[in-house]
Amino acid sequence: MLSNMRDIIHMGPPSLSPDIDDHDDLAHLHAAIAEARAAELAGEVPIGAVVVYQDQIIARGQNRVLRDHDPTAHAEIVALRQAARHFANYRLPQDAAGCTLYVTLEPCAMCAGAILHARVARLVYAAPDPKAGACGSVLSVINHPQLNHRVEVASGLLAEECGALLTAFFRSRR
Ligand code: ZN
Repeated sequence: MLSNMRDIIHMGPPSLSPDIDDHDDLAHLHAAIAEARAAELAGEVPIGAVVVYQDQIIARGQNRVLRDHDPTAHAEIVALRQAARHFANYRLPQDAAGCTLYVTLEPCAMCAGAILHARVARLVYAAPDPKAGACGSVLSVINHPQLNHRVEVASGLLAEECGALLTAFFRSRR
């Protein structure tokens, strides 16, 4: 039933795309939502991310641009920095599984660039971002035909929940 809610986009060569059901996407997205909620408690726009390697969460990130006075402190960047420190390598492992980045909102152009630099193998995001999304909504940085690194992308799972988190946050600020 859940698979009907997913808008699955396989953009890499089919042989390189593992079956989506092999992954515990729901649990990992819930971990990203927990990060988003923690950001909200700190007064930040609620966006969260986690990086998973071999079924283990090895990094977590939440939006912290206000707290850190840092325009680059998006949840994805925070999580990717932690993941890179975990491996002591700015390029994440390129083995069969690779790393998956889970995030509650479609990444922006900056984060999409970081995802490519880090060699993230798979990206799972929940809600689309019609204002700044760089995975197809506004720009198509991920899997741009002229860029080398391919990323397997899946989106739509828990999109309503993650979108509602943002809508409620902005409504409460008005
Ligand atoms: Zn971003």
